[in-house]
Amino acid sequence: MIYYNNDNNKETSTHKFSSLEKSNLNWRSATHMADEENKAAWLLVVKTLKILPYHLPPLGENGVKVRIKAVGICGSDVHHFKTMRCANFIVKKPMVIGLKSLAIGDRVALEPGISCQRCNFCKVGRYNLCSEMKFFGSPATNGSLANQVVHPANLCFKLPNNVSLEEGAMCEPLSAGVHACRPGPIGLITLLAARAFGAPRVVIVDVDDSGLSLAKDLGAYDILQVSTDIQVDVIGIFRYRNTWPLCIEFLRTGKIDVKPLITHRFGFSQEDIEEAFKTSARGGEAIKVMFNL
Ligand SMILES: [Zn+2]
Repeated sequence: MIYYNNDNNKETSTHKFSSLEKSNLNWRSATHMADEENKAAWLLVVKTLKILPYHLPPLGENGVKVRIKAVGICGSDVHHFKTMRCANFIVKKPMVIGLKSLAIGDRVALEPGISCQRCNFCKVGRYNLCSEMKFFGSPATNGSLANQVVHPANLCFKLPNNVSLEEGAMCEPLSAGVHACRPGPIGLITLLAARAFGAPRVVIVDVDDSGLSLAKDLGAYDILQVSTDIQVDVIGIFRYRNTWPLCIEFLRTGKIDVKPLITHRFGFSQEDIEEAFKTSARGGEAIKVMFNL
Protein backbone atom coordinates (compact mmCIF):
# COMPACT_ATOMS: atom_id res chain seq x y z
CA MET A 1 0.00 0.00 0.00
CA ILE A 2 1.27 3.44 -0.89
CA TYR A 3 -1.48 5.67 0.24
CA TYR A 4 -3.39 4.81 3.35
CA ASN A 5 -6.91 6.07 3.95
CA ASN A 6 -7.40 5.56 7.62
CA ASP A 7 -10.02 8.05 8.72
CA ASN A 8 -11.03 6.19 11.84
CA ASN A 9 -9.12 8.55 14.11
CA LYS A 10 -10.76 7.55 17.36
CA GLU A 11 -9.78 3.95 17.02
CA THR A 12 -6.25 4.88 15.97
CA SER A 13 -5.83 7.23 18.93
CA THR A 14 -6.85 4.65 21.50
CA HIS A 15 -4.45 2.13 20.09
CA LYS A 16 -1.72 4.70 19.75
CA PHE A 17 -1.67 5.77 23.40
CA SER A 18 -1.24 2.25 24.69
CA SER A 19 1.65 1.62 22.31
CA LEU A 20 3.27 4.94 23.09
CA GLU A 21 3.14 4.25 26.81
CA LYS A 22 4.82 0.92 26.21
CA SER A 23 7.73 2.62 24.49
CA ASN A 24 8.05 5.39 27.10
CA LEU A 25 7.22 8.18 24.73
CA ASN A 26 5.82 11.30 26.30
CA TRP A 27 2.07 11.01 26.78
CA ARG A 28 1.46 14.74 26.61
CA SER A 29 3.18 15.04 23.27
CA ALA A 30 1.13 12.05 22.12
CA THR A 31 -2.03 13.96 22.99
CA HIS A 32 -0.75 16.96 21.07
CA MET A 33 0.10 14.77 18.09
CA ALA A 34 -3.42 13.41 17.95
CA ASP A 35 -4.73 16.91 17.15
CA GLU A 36 -2.21 17.72 14.47
CA GLU A 37 -3.05 17.26 10.81
CA ASN A 38 -0.36 15.02 9.42
CA LYS A 39 1.27 16.10 6.17
CA ALA A 40 3.96 14.59 4.03
CA ALA A 41 5.99 15.46 0.94
CA TRP A 42 4.53 13.33 -1.85
CA LEU A 43 6.45 12.55 -5.04
CA LEU A 44 3.66 12.68 -7.61
CA VAL A 45 5.53 12.54 -10.91
CA VAL A 46 9.11 13.29 -12.02
CA LYS A 47 10.47 16.37 -10.20
CA THR A 48 7.08 17.18 -8.69
CA LEU A 49 6.79 17.18 -4.91
CA LYS A 50 3.71 18.40 -3.07
CA ILE A 51 2.94 18.68 0.63
CA LEU A 52 -0.35 16.86 1.08
CA PRO A 53 -2.20 15.10 3.92
CA TYR A 54 -0.80 11.74 4.95
CA HIS A 55 -3.15 9.32 6.68
CA LEU A 56 -1.03 7.04 8.80
CA PRO A 57 -1.40 3.28 8.72
CA PRO A 58 -2.62 1.42 11.81
CA LEU A 59 0.05 0.92 14.47
CA GLY A 60 -0.07 -2.84 14.51
CA GLU A 61 1.31 -4.79 17.43
CA ASN A 62 4.62 -3.02 18.02
CA GLY A 63 4.28 0.27 16.19
CA VAL A 64 4.66 3.73 17.68
CA LYS A 65 3.59 7.03 16.21
CA VAL A 66 6.64 9.24 15.84
CA ARG A 67 6.78 13.03 15.47
CA ILE A 68 9.46 13.76 12.89
CA LYS A 69 11.74 16.73 13.57
CA ALA A 70 14.77 16.26 11.31
CA VAL A 71 15.10 14.39 8.02
CA GLY A 72 17.96 14.44 5.53
CA ILE A 73 17.80 13.96 1.76
CA CYS A 74 19.83 10.99 0.53
CA GLY A 75 21.09 9.94 -2.87
CA SER A 76 18.23 7.55 -3.55
CA ASP A 77 15.72 10.32 -2.75
CA VAL A 78 17.33 12.44 -5.44
CA HIS A 79 17.20 9.55 -7.93
CA HIS A 80 13.51 9.03 -7.22
CA PHE A 81 12.92 12.77 -7.55
CA LYS A 82 14.68 13.01 -10.91
CA THR A 83 13.65 9.76 -12.55
CA MET A 84 11.03 8.04 -10.36
CA ARG A 85 13.44 5.14 -9.95
CA CYS A 86 16.64 4.07 -8.24
CA ALA A 87 18.25 0.87 -9.54
CA ASN A 88 15.45 -1.71 -9.55
CA PHE A 89 13.20 0.26 -7.23
CA ILE A 90 10.60 2.11 -9.26
CA VAL A 91 8.03 4.65 -8.10
CA LYS A 92 4.74 3.50 -9.58
CA LYS A 93 2.28 5.52 -7.51
CA PRO A 94 2.51 8.73 -5.48
CA MET A 95 4.72 8.10 -2.47
CA VAL A 96 6.09 9.95 0.54
CA ILE A 97 9.72 10.78 -0.07
CA GLY A 98 12.45 10.97 2.57
CA LEU A 99 14.61 8.21 3.87
CA LYS A 100 16.34 9.20 7.04
CA SER A 101 14.40 10.20 9.99
CA LEU A 102 14.68 11.34 13.54
CA ALA A 103 11.78 11.65 15.87
CA ILE A 104 10.83 13.35 19.02
CA GLY A 105 8.73 12.30 21.97
CA ASP A 106 11.53 10.46 23.67
CA ARG A 107 14.07 11.85 21.16
CA VAL A 108 14.79 8.83 19.02
CA ALA A 109 16.63 8.06 15.78
CA LEU A 110 14.82 5.74 13.39
CA GLU A 111 16.44 2.84 11.59
CA PRO A 112 14.53 2.96 8.31
CA GLY A 113 14.37 -0.70 7.20
CA ILE A 114 11.72 -3.10 8.47
CA SER A 115 12.83 -6.66 7.73
CA CYS A 116 10.50 -9.67 7.65
CA GLN A 117 12.10 -11.53 10.59
CA ARG A 118 11.14 -14.82 8.93
CA CYS A 119 13.45 -15.44 5.95
CA ASN A 120 16.80 -17.23 6.23
CA PHE A 121 18.79 -14.00 6.12
CA CYS A 122 16.72 -12.55 8.94
CA LYS A 123 17.00 -15.73 10.99
CA VAL A 124 20.80 -15.64 10.91
CA GLY A 125 20.91 -11.95 11.76
CA ARG A 126 21.82 -10.67 8.29
CA TYR A 127 18.56 -8.79 8.05
CA ASN A 128 20.00 -6.10 5.78
CA LEU A 129 19.81 -8.69 2.98
CA CYS A 130 16.13 -9.50 3.60
CA SER A 131 14.26 -9.60 0.28
CA GLU A 132 11.02 -8.57 1.99
CA MET A 133 12.57 -5.43 3.46
CA LYS A 134 10.26 -2.43 3.76
CA PHE A 135 12.57 0.55 3.67
CA PHE A 136 11.57 4.19 4.16
CA GLY A 137 11.43 5.95 0.81
CA SER A 138 12.23 2.86 -1.27
CA PRO A 139 9.26 2.05 -3.52
CA ALA A 140 6.70 0.97 -2.66
CA THR A 141 7.29 1.93 0.98
CA ASN A 142 6.57 5.52 1.94
CA GLY A 143 9.40 7.61 3.35
CA SER A 144 9.63 9.78 6.40
CA LEU A 145 9.45 13.35 5.12
CA ALA A 146 6.22 13.88 7.03
CA ASN A 147 5.12 15.40 10.33
CA GLN A 148 4.43 11.96 11.74
CA VAL A 149 5.13 8.38 10.76
CA VAL A 150 4.35 4.99 12.27
CA HIS A 151 7.37 2.80 12.89
CA PRO A 152 8.21 -0.35 14.91
CA ALA A 153 9.35 0.53 18.42
CA ASN A 154 12.42 -1.71 18.14
CA LEU A 155 13.73 0.42 15.29
CA CYS A 156 13.51 3.66 17.31
CA PHE A 157 16.78 4.28 19.14
CA LYS A 158 16.88 6.67 22.05
CA LEU A 159 19.35 9.52 21.77
CA PRO A 160 21.59 10.73 24.60
CA ASN A 161 20.99 14.35 25.66
CA ASN A 162 24.17 15.61 24.06
CA VAL A 163 23.31 14.25 20.60
CA SER A 164 21.15 16.63 18.59
CA LEU A 165 18.15 15.63 16.51
CA GLU A 166 20.03 16.44 13.31
CA GLU A 167 23.00 14.33 14.38
CA GLY A 168 20.58 11.49 15.08
CA ALA A 169 19.22 11.86 11.56
CA MET A 170 22.78 11.36 10.33
CA CYS A 171 22.87 7.82 11.79
CA GLU A 172 21.59 6.49 8.48
CA PRO A 173 24.40 7.70 6.21
CA LEU A 174 26.84 7.08 9.05
CA SER A 175 25.59 3.51 9.26
CA ALA A 176 26.69 2.75 5.71
CA GLY A 177 30.19 3.85 6.64
CA VAL A 178 30.19 2.08 9.99
CA HIS A 179 28.94 -1.13 8.40
CA ALA A 180 31.64 -0.93 5.73
CA CYS A 181 34.36 -0.13 8.26
CA ARG A 182 33.98 -3.27 10.26
CA PRO A 183 36.98 -5.47 9.57
CA GLY A 184 36.52 -8.13 6.95
CA PRO A 185 37.73 -7.59 3.43
CA ILE A 186 35.40 -4.71 2.65
CA GLY A 187 36.02 -2.92 5.88
CA LEU A 188 39.77 -3.18 5.56
CA ILE A 189 39.76 -2.20 1.90
CA THR A 190 37.58 0.75 2.79
CA LEU A 191 40.13 1.66 5.42
CA LEU A 192 42.92 1.55 2.84
CA ALA A 193 40.88 3.61 0.40
CA ALA A 194 40.02 6.17 3.05
CA ARG A 195 43.70 6.44 3.98
CA ALA A 196 44.63 6.82 0.32
CA PHE A 197 42.18 9.70 0.03
CA GLY A 198 43.94 11.32 2.95
CA ALA A 199 41.46 10.61 5.74
CA PRO A 200 43.38 11.38 8.93
CA ARG A 201 41.15 9.43 11.33
CA VAL A 202 39.54 6.12 10.41
CA VAL A 203 37.90 4.12 13.21
CA ILE A 204 37.37 0.38 12.73
CA VAL A 205 35.02 -1.75 14.83
CA ASP A 206 34.52 -5.49 15.17
CA VAL A 207 33.40 -8.19 17.56
CA ASP A 208 36.80 -9.86 17.92
CA ASP A 209 40.26 -8.41 18.03
CA SER A 210 42.00 -10.36 15.25
CA GLY A 211 40.67 -8.13 12.50
CA LEU A 212 41.09 -5.13 14.72
CA SER A 213 44.82 -5.61 15.20
CA LEU A 214 45.23 -5.92 11.44
CA ALA A 215 43.18 -2.73 11.03
CA LYS A 216 45.55 -1.00 13.43
CA ASP A 217 48.53 -2.25 11.42
CA LEU A 218 46.90 -0.90 8.27
CA GLY A 219 46.72 2.55 9.75
CA ALA A 220 43.38 2.82 11.54
CA TYR A 221 43.35 5.84 13.83
CA ASP A 222 41.45 3.87 16.43
CA ILE A 223 39.87 0.44 16.87
CA LEU A 224 36.88 -0.54 18.94
CA GLN A 225 35.68 -3.97 19.97
CA VAL A 226 31.91 -4.34 20.16
CA SER A 227 29.75 -7.08 21.60
CA THR A 228 27.40 -8.08 18.82
CA ASP A 229 27.03 -11.35 16.94
CA ILE A 230 28.15 -9.99 13.63
CA GLN A 231 30.29 -11.89 11.17
CA VAL A 232 31.32 -9.79 8.19
CA ASP A 233 31.89 -12.19 5.34
CA VAL A 234 30.17 -10.52 2.43
CA ILE A 235 32.12 -9.18 -0.54
CA GLY A 236 29.90 -6.15 -0.97
CA ILE A 237 27.60 -4.32 1.33
CA PHE A 238 23.92 -3.67 0.94
CA ARG A 239 22.42 -1.36 3.50
CA TYR A 240 23.60 -2.16 7.04
CA ARG A 241 22.59 -3.91 10.20
CA ASN A 242 22.93 -3.37 13.95
CA THR A 243 24.62 -0.04 13.41
CA TRP A 244 22.37 2.47 15.19
CA PRO A 245 23.58 1.88 18.77
CA LEU A 246 27.18 2.15 17.61
CA CYS A 247 26.55 5.29 15.54
CA ILE A 248 24.84 6.91 18.51
CA GLU A 249 27.79 5.95 20.70
CA PHE A 250 30.22 7.52 18.23
CA LEU A 251 28.14 10.70 18.25
CA ARG A 252 27.79 10.74 22.05
CA THR A 253 31.51 10.39 22.66
CA GLY A 254 32.45 12.81 19.90
CA LYS A 255 34.52 10.17 18.14
CA ILE A 256 32.69 11.08 14.97
CA ASP A 257 31.48 14.61 14.25
CA VAL A 258 28.82 14.65 11.54
CA LYS A 259 27.83 18.29 11.98
CA PRO A 260 30.15 19.64 9.26
CA LEU A 261 28.42 17.33 6.77
CA ILE A 262 25.10 19.15 7.19
CA THR A 263 25.60 21.87 4.61
CA HIS A 264 22.03 23.05 3.98
CA ARG A 265 18.89 23.35 6.07
CA PHE A 266 15.29 23.83 5.02
CA GLY A 267 11.88 23.98 6.65
CA PHE A 268 8.83 22.03 5.58
CA SER A 269 6.91 24.35 3.26
CA GLN A 270 6.14 23.72 -0.40
CA GLU A 271 8.80 26.28 -1.37
CA ASP A 272 11.32 24.71 1.01
CA ILE A 273 10.96 21.16 -0.28
CA GLU A 274 11.28 22.27 -3.90
CA GLU A 275 14.39 24.32 -3.18
CA ALA A 276 15.89 21.59 -0.98
CA PHE A 277 15.60 18.94 -3.68
CA LYS A 278 16.98 21.30 -6.32
CA THR A 279 19.94 21.98 -4.01
CA SER A 280 20.55 18.30 -3.35
CA ALA A 281 20.17 17.34 -7.02
CA ARG A 282 22.70 19.99 -8.05
CA GLY A 283 25.32 18.29 -5.90
CA GLY A 284 28.48 20.36 -5.68
CA GLU A 285 28.85 21.77 -2.21
CA ALA A 286 25.61 20.20 -0.98
CA ILE A 287 26.72 17.25 1.12
CA LYS A 288 23.72 16.65 3.38
CA VAL A 289 20.54 18.65 2.94
CA MET A 290 18.44 18.55 6.10
CA PHE A 291 14.80 19.35 6.77
CA ASN A 292 13.75 20.72 10.14
CA LEU A 293 10.05 20.05 10.56
ZN1 LIG B 1 13.67 -11.33 6.01
